[in-house]
Amino acid sequence: EQANPHQPEFLQAVEEVAETIIPFIEENKKYQNHCLLERMVEPERVIMFRVTWIDDQGSIQVNRGYRIQMNSAIGPYKGGLRFHPSVNLSILKFLAFEQVFKNSLTTLPMGGGKGGSDFNPKGKSDSEVMRFCQSFITELYRHIGPNTDVPAGDIGVGAREVGYMFGQYKRIQNEFTGILTGKGLSFGGSLVRPEATGYGNVYFAQCMLERKGDSLQGKSVLISGSGNVAQYAAEKATELGAKVITMSDSSGYIVDQEGIDEEKLAFIMEIKNERRGRINEYVDQYPNATFHEGKTPWGEKGDIAMPCATQNELFKEDAQKLVDNGCILVGEGANMPCTPDAVEVFQKSKILFSPGKASNAGGVATSGLEMSQNSLRLNWPAEKVDDKLKTIMKDIHDACVQYGQTTDGYVDYVKGANIAGFVKVADAMIAQGAV
Ligand code: NDP
Repeated sequence: EQANPHQPEFLQAVEEVAETIIPFIEENKKYQNHCLLERMVEPERVIMFRVTWIDDQGSIQVNRGYRIQMNSAIGPYKGGLRFHPSVNLSILKFLAFEQVFKNSLTTLPMGGGKGGSDFNPKGKSDSEVMRFCQSFITELYRHIGPNTDVPAGDIGVGAREVGYMFGQYKRIQNEFTGILTGKGLSFGGSLVRPEATGYGNVYFAQCMLERKGDSLQGKSVLISGSGNVAQYAAEKATELGAKVITMSDSSGYIVDQEGIDEEKLAFIMEIKNERRGRINEYVDQYPNATFHEGKTPWGEKGDIAMPCATQNELFKEDAQKLVDNGCILVGEGANMPCTPDAVEVFQKSKILFSPGKASNAGGVATSGLEMSQNSLRLNWPAEKVDDKLKTIMKDIHDACVQYGQTTDGYVDYVKGANIAGFVKVADAMIAQGAV
């Protein structure tokens, strides 16, 4: 805490990992005396820079840009860029730290990083977003590269922003290389990348249920968020026979007991992706649904909960309500959406709970597949990418079970994910010496 003042999110993420890793190190001599955890909590490099851009009125605007290069023991730094006014060093360090474990879990050779800016894309014109992205990359370009650091999207950074940043990088470097993932299909993007995080989260839930002899068929699902992860989690859950009844955004949530089917989801995608509008427009179109301003959906009754919006959006009281209402599975689609005491409620109640670093790893895994395709200069068909995604999610699930199963048969997926992620990075760090 002394070394990282005013970084509550980062300390929260480290504490949660340390709780399971410290006992593991104490039990395994091989991992002692290498200062592993001490090294892992210290980013290899933090880059902070000024981003100036001209708005549509001709005025100069100033934002702060960041890239946290956390750990490169097992591959080039990899992790998204977030554009949101709440972005600060603490949030990006927490995300970069989580990313190291997540990327290790995917079984692909990727180190961990994260970056972004406090720039708010909401309400900005296309040209303003473009000028911001160009200015951001004009500094960041010198720190990234296909074998050094390969950023991707995150909150506020979708296909549009990635496109603008890729274009500017290419212009500066005069080089067409895979320095960003989440690109458009016409310039090196991978099929299934937009869907991957949401789909992967549902595949992971499917694995957890199958292990208990259960399935998604007929289950009601509460989803928060209506962005990239939420949309595709809803799509896949519906396809596999579940009924999604809630979605949300930062203004509140909608509940539709009849289920948000394919057609209704297409309407939400139109609101959020085409018009960048608000979720409450849903009730104008489907009057049987209701909108709850300023609230999250955790008070509703559902079999499954998938928080897919942002960090710390599901608190202890919400967790208790979910359990009391008969929820049997919580799968984190966002990064650290559940507070530590909410996670404790789920684990004490012995319901299925998967941490984001395991259940949302499908996005970065597919980004890893995009990097492979870029290196090969090939595009794989959707079925091939989706099959690989399914296999990766199953492997992550099984690794969590291997390291997280307790004596009574309950699987602590948090412990499992932390240890499975740690082992590979730790082995590489030991082999590479004091770096
Ligand atoms: P998007 O920007 O596409 O969507 C974010 C959604 O969450 C929107 O509905 C947004 O509402 C809502 N939201 C954002 N911030 C807040 C807030 N402070 N309070 C309430 N609601 C909020 O982002 P993604 O779907 O890509 O990301 C969602 C989460 O998933 C993040 O935690 C991200 O780190 C994580 N993640 C994403 C991956 C990906 O591949 N995209 C991969 C792995 C993890 P509004 O529209 O009102 O802003």
